[in-house]
Amino acid sequence: MNLRIPGPTPCPPEVLQSMTKQMINHRGKEFGEINVRVTERMKGFFQTKNDLLILTGSGTGGMETAVVNMLSPGDKVLAVSIGVFGNRFAQVAEAYGAKAIKLDFEWGRAADPDRIRQALTGDPEIKAVIVTHNETSTGVTNPLEAISGVVKGMGKLLIVDAISSIGSIDLPVDRWNCDVVVGGSQKGWMIPPGLTFVSVSEQAWAAYKTAKMPRFYWDLGKAKSYLEKGGQNPWTPAVSLYYALDAALAMMETEGLGNIVARHVRLGQKVRDGVKSLGLSLFADEKSASNTVTAVKATNGLDMKRLTTVMREETGVVVSGGQQSLEGKICRIGHMGYVTDADVKEVVEAMRKSLPKAGFVPVKA
Ligand SMILES: *Cc1c(COP(=O)(O)O)cnc(C)c1O
Repeated sequence: MNLRIPGPTPCPPEVLQSMTKQMINHRGKEFGEINVRVTERMKGFFQTKNDLLILTGSGTGGMETAVVNMLSPGDKVLAVSIGVFGNRFAQVAEAYGAKAIKLDFEWGRAADPDRIRQALTGDPEIKAVIVTHNETSTGVTNPLEAISGVVKGMGKLLIVDAISSIGSIDLPVDRWNCDVVVGGSQKGWMIPPGLTFVSVSEQAWAAYKTAKMPRFYWDLGKAKSYLEKGGQNPWTPAVSLYYALDAALAMMETEGLGNIVARHVRLGQKVRDGVKSLGLSLFADEKSASNTVTAVKATNGLDMKRLTTVMREETGVVVSGGQQSLEGKICRIGHMGYVTDADVKEVVEAMRKSLPKAGFVPVKA
């Protein structure tokens, strides 16, 4: 089977093997050494000298962590959304009593930094901006560097969902001045779901000191103080996933971040070229197309549900459907983390074989 969904992504054999190790005391020296070691190396992949906390939970837990540690009920936040995950971030903020001011852009397109500037200028009470770096539901990457220029230029806190980008798409956290950046283990990191990574700038810690949202499990201050106590976690962490992360980081260090990013750029283009060569269209505006996930439109009579079923049953290639209003309208191909040229070729070939069985009528050239 070739699992080509935007997470969970396949794990290399070395990573799977690492997880067969016996449990150890999560308050002991051995775990502490692993935790300190993987945390330090994760900072390298986040390109940051900020604190970074590894927490047990899915990516959404990391998003919730960012919200409850930085904000107080009643705080105004600008929630920039270009899809399902941008909306989710706004919902998390609202669930804890923030006033999320939505700034929505058409799905398939990136956010416009000028409109973010206008929104911030128009409402000086806005304290923070929450934004998705790579919108997994539409296959679009936002211009985060330019967005950060606007947001930080106005002194606001910048909180980024980088779950389907960081580690695969370039995101230099310090150079781009991002205050809180959230990652998720099952996306580009080549390990199973269950860990989330949160980097915290000095300005973010200052916000933490005054933030009054209720929090317990996701308290970043507790996470930091336990980490400093010999590499512990406040609660019982997913120990096996730390073994996996240790192994995956070794592989990632061998390849090098620059090469990893370049591989994603190359394979992203290869997926887009391959899909278009079949007569299909991309959902995303190509200028902003993501290098970790590609959304393909259902055109020319194509029954998308049928296509993904035929692909899975007859070729063993698994891709994702569209979410919410995009259900049946697109399919999504994941190409992040453990992915090669051969994988991309296999997906495109699987699509080529399956299209005629899913009602697709190619336009004659
Ligand atoms: C996958 C994903 C999430 C959600 O992560 P979970 O691990 O499913 O909670 C959030 N944001 C983005 C951009 C994602 O790709």
